[in-house]
Amino acid sequence: MTKLLHRTIGSTMPRAVAGEGIYITDSEGRTYIDGSGGAAVSCLGHNHPEVLDAMKAQMARITYAHTSFFTTDVAEELAEQLVELAPKGLDYVYLVSGGSEAVEAALKMARQYFVEIGQPQRRHIIARRQSYHGNTIGALATGGNAWRRAQFRPILPETHHVSPCYAYRDMQAGETHATYGERLVAELEAKIIELGADTVMAFVAEPVVGATLGAVTPVPGYLKLVRQICDQYGILLILDEVMCGMGRTGTMFAFEQEGIVPDLMTIAKGLGGGFQPIGAVMLSETIYRAFAEGSGLFQHGHTYIGHPIAAAAANKVVEILRRSEMMKNVVRMGERLQVGLDAALKQSAYVGDIRGRGLFRGIEIVADKDTKEPFDPARRINSRIKKEAMQRGLMCYPMGGTIDGVHGDHVLLAPPYITEAEQIDMIIDRLAAAIDAAVAG
Ligand code: PLP
Repeated sequence: MTKLLHRTIGSTMPRAVAGEGIYITDSEGRTYIDGSGGAAVSCLGHNHPEVLDAMKAQMARITYAHTSFFTTDVAEELAEQLVELAPKGLDYVYLVSGGSEAVEAALKMARQYFVEIGQPQRRHIIARRQSYHGNTIGALATGGNAWRRAQFRPILPETHHVSPCYAYRDMQAGETHATYGERLVAELEAKIIELGADTVMAFVAEPVVGATLGAVTPVPGYLKLVRQICDQYGILLILDEVMCGMGRTGTMFAFEQEGIVPDLMTIAKGLGGGFQPIGAVMLSETIYRAFAEGSGLFQHGHTYIGHPIAAAAANKVVEILRRSEMMKNVVRMGERLQVGLDAALKQSAYVGDIRGRGLFRGIEIVADKDTKEPFDPARRINSRIKKEAMQRGLMCYPMGGTIDGVHGDHVLLAPPYITEAEQIDMIIDRLAAAIDAAVAG
């Protein structure tokens, strides 16, 4: 009998005992392809020798030094690497220990910024429905993932939500990508005006929506218009790249493909690659200066921020991600994955949409392809797919509530960037069989 409070009580989990490359092995000797990198985490696969060596080297030096007393070489080097990688406008780094912490810190930075510059009336956060920004109270309130929020609603701080950019379901007949994007941004502007333009502090969005919608990319031009509206009303744009960042979509940051730069950006998952828990907020020079020339600090902090072993691991992960073959492989294997998924699944009566970028792909499952009618949630198609996939030695990341928090199912794939062509094909074969078995069951 377990003494752990598992995510789901009463289910028997296999025990992971080893990891190597894109594979995880359990205590019964079964091997699974990590087709989702856990939850889009293991970007370099498991047990990467260079990352392990970097961690060991740091362990031999020092394992912990509280950031109110010391800085460390590894934390400084990591910040330098990230600033070198990011476009101008993301000029400083604040380290934390995961995605939710990064989002909380970004929200507090936005708030403190406006206090520092003499606009303390700015307090409203606008985000989008069907997005996920984390499970801590502020991040959960910001996210628009209906089922995750439902029971906690009474204790969540006030936040506001507008429509996601979800062309497969929400673009209307007669609309083009451009006019759909304009409609969404008009909705955002109306919300800003309704709340009082000078009371809004931040708009928060995932450039490519991960867990909640399943690798949904924005229509061309939408995020550019969002950036313009934020600028027009003096609102900070926070882009949450916790899942879609760090090379997942084929560029180091997903927003780079949209031709914009946010004021604040959150990263985690792929930053530590699962080797260590780490996240970060990158912030603009303007925000940094407001803190530096105002109170002289960012009023925040956790015990483990800037942890040396986590920083050492992330520093090495980022160094490896910067090698030229890495992003090339994400793009090449990502195309192979999309083409292969199209070939294997497009004809399926139950696959409505196959989407995404790089090694970040989503498959939306439907009961009726023509009407896009979802399966009855009682059939729990997404959990069945997960189970069937695990039985076939594949980890994928299915989720329900795609449409509105209750209805809809999708599967997210986010394999490591080191995945090879034959392994991509194996992922597709196993997933296709799992989907067939799940809908037949
Ligand atoms: N933001 C996004 C976009 C995420 O996908 C996640 C996790 O899935 C988070 C934030 C929260 O990150 P964490 O689980 O590390 O707290």
